[in-house]
Amino acid sequence: MADAILVLNAGSSSLKFSVFLDREGSAPQLELRGQIEGLFTKPRFSARAASGARLAEEDLGSAAQPGHEGAAHFLLGWLEQRLGGRRLLAAGHRVVHGGREFSAPVRVNAAVLTALERLVPLAPLHQPHNLAAIRAVAARAPELTQVACFDTAFHTAQPQLAQAFALPRRLTEAGLRRYGFHGLSYEYIAQMLPSIDARAASGRTVVAHLGNGASMCAIAAGKSAASTMGFTALDGLPMGTRCGAIDPGVLLYLLEHEGMDARGLEKLLYHESGLLGVSGISSDMRALLDSRDAHAADAVDLFVYRIVRELGSLAAALGGLDAPVFTAGIGENAPAIRARVCRAVAWLGIELDDSANSAGGPRISRSGSPASAWVLPTNEELMIALQTRAALGAGR
Ligand code: ADP
Repeated sequence: MADAILVLNAGSSSLKFSVFLDREGSAPQLELRGQIEGLFTKPRFSARAASGARLAEEDLGSAAQPGHEGAAHFLLGWLEQRLGGRRLLAAGHRVVHGGREFSAPVRVNAAVLTALERLVPLAPLHQPHNLAAIRAVAARAPELTQVACFDTAFHTAQPQLAQAFALPRRLTEAGLRRYGFHGLSYEYIAQMLPSIDARAASGRTVVAHLGNGASMCAIAAGKSAASTMGFTALDGLPMGTRCGAIDPGVLLYLLEHEGMDARGLEKLLYHESGLLGVSGISSDMRALLDSRDAHAADAVDLFVYRIVRELGSLAAALGGLDAPVFTAGIGENAPAIRARVCRAVAWLGIELDDSANSAGGPRISRSGSPASAWVLPTNEELMIALQTRAALGAGR
């Protein structure tokens, strides 16, 4: 009977999970997925089989507010029943920040956990929750191997130049540099490219990960060369509620003349800006595309404009462009956005195939187009399962 790998993605209010079956000689296979939402309000557990069939849906009751610890406790108990005789090999966690130290997935021990704690100030909105889930699993199942898989690791391959801010050297040395995020998604796409297109795999590719969080990554022969996200996951493209790149002088102005403090800025930049801020309607691209409101159109226009600008910048970093790739919620499902971007960068040698784009790809450029454009679904959970299996080593 195949063993199982648990994949966990812990946020501030939810614990998302997937279970993959690990079969010798083939990719881990999704068995089920689900989440516990409302960790600190009204916790609710739901799980579905890989087919989409509902497996469980339950309010976790008035014992409420289980936090990450209670959620991990409940989940591991449920899985023991559910998995029957299957052995749980390991839990692989999405961890947003691995700093400069972690350029690959790592088995978690006390020293690793301490090192990851030190990175909390670099990702205060995400890292504490990721680490809370690791501690919660360790408390319930101390013998279970846990592996941390990082959103930053893929980008550690970037040249120094791509990582540096033009700040005094002592600040760069203290860790104020560009780290880049969404690395699990980019690594998954980079790993898929050889089976999709030899030129995209070995050449100059720009992947646009366009979800609620959105970023773009220049990939040279499978390795990260530059990315739009920097020191935090705020930089680069406008996102659902995040502002993306902003003149730092705006922040000084808001501090000095609008009476804002750090918490106020954090709320503004992370939660009130982006598509939501510009449209005043929604952070959700589907709602904006369906709307006739002029402000919804402004938000979509700005999103497209910024993608086009960044595509030019990343192509410049690569010295040319062989293949743009669209992925994540908007990238995979919004042909209108892809079409607008591709038309605006026709000068980079992209000839869009309208019907292939409407059909969802995977190839959305005409045959003979100097650069080929693609739609590839990302799979960060599978990437974590693959990395977790790799970190367990061949000798188990
Ligand atoms: P997350 O970053 O939370 O993982 P997703 O990758 O799921 O987000 O992307 C969510 C975004 O994808 C939302 O803005 C949503 O509106 C958008 N999206 C999903 N389906 C479609 C669609 N059919 N057309 C346009 N946008 C879509």
